Amino acid sequence: MDMKKRYALLLGLILLIVGAALLGYRMGWVPQVKAQETTTQRSMILMDTVVDVRVDGRNSAALVERVFQRMAELEKLFSRFIPESEVSAINRAAGDWVEVSPLTLELVELGMEMSRITDGAFDLTIGAVLDLWGFGSDIRRVPEEDELREALATVDFTQVEVNRKQGAVRIPQGTVLDLGGIAKGFIVGQGIEILRDAGVERALINAGGDISVVGRRPDGRPWRVGVQDPDQPSSIRYVLPLDDQSVVTSGDYQRYFTVEGVRYHHIIDPFTGYPARGLRSVTIVGDDPAMCDAISTAVFVLGWAEGRALVERLPGVEAILVTDTDAWISPGLAEAMASQ
Ligand code: ADP
Ligand code: MG
Repeated sequence: MDMKKRYALLLGLILLIVGAALLGYRMGWVPQVKAQETTTQRSMILMDTVVDVRVDGRNSAALVERVFQRMAELEKLFSRFIPESEVSAINRAAGDWVEVSPLTLELVELGMEMSRITDGAFDLTIGAVLDLWGFGSDIRRVPEEDELREALATVDFTQVEVNRKQGAVRIPQGTVLDLGGIAKGFIVGQGIEILRDAGVERALINAGGDISVVGRRPDGRPWRVGVQDPDQPSSIRYVLPLDDQSVVTSGDYQRYFTVEGVRYHHIIDPFTGYPARGLRSVTIVGDDPAMCDAISTAVFVLGWAEGRALVERLPGVEAILVTDTDAWISPGLAEAMASQ
């Protein structure tokens, strides 16, 4: 064959492939490509973690933008490490009433309710103890016993007061409000609400492991979400089906420091002042991401037996508890996992 003929053959072949692809696309043979046209997915660092937002459908790009804007606004209200936040204002004015916006009030009230429901295993007034351990700052150290005792005396969720009419919050002097165990879930929930209100049929928000979904996957089946292995956070240990639900995981591998071979992590037992021991990770599945967030922290504090009892007591809440040697999957979740 001479060169000309070879080129002609090659050109013909290329045209044939392009033609077939175009035809296939028009006939809808490659639906993934079509779906992608209306899917927007973007990541941003917010709340000290990578936040992923994926929205399918019309206006997805504008909606993703709105969700990120809202989440950033809310972080500025709730973070006690941002001096201008409303939570910082409450902490600075401890002893006095502080007027806050309706969403801050809602979050504080939800935090109080979760503290009640968990009998104080989750306690939104844990801030002073966290400060001693240095979580939130760069200076991390193991506190002295008497320092801890003093800080623990300021931890008592029953002392938080809310005046709904005035939209005001008051905490006792010396108490430090910390919403780190619930705010992330709450903010994810607010993002999801924007999407539901806009009529979005399919979306996913992942804020560093606090995950909430709208609807189901493009193929009509539940979303599949991986739960990390506490020993090897880069690998997946469980895959959970999510159908218009939320999943939140608390683990001792997320934020910690090590002194003389002992790992000190950021989930503190409000009864002792020390990092909660026993469980390696807790995954909670439920309808409301803020509640899942607080419950995951509480179950982590309560440990294997009491944590499990709490999960069994709460309607609509499923869980996976992982220790060094054992794992418990709540029956409802085990069933859903088996049938996915
Ligand atoms: P992460 O923030 O890593 O997702 P969690 O949801 O379990 O993990 O929340 C841990 C955060 O909750 C801590 O960084 C701290 O701000 C706060 N916290 C720690 N212990 C408690 C507790 N017993 N009750 C309420 N909040 C807590
Ligand atoms: Mg939590």
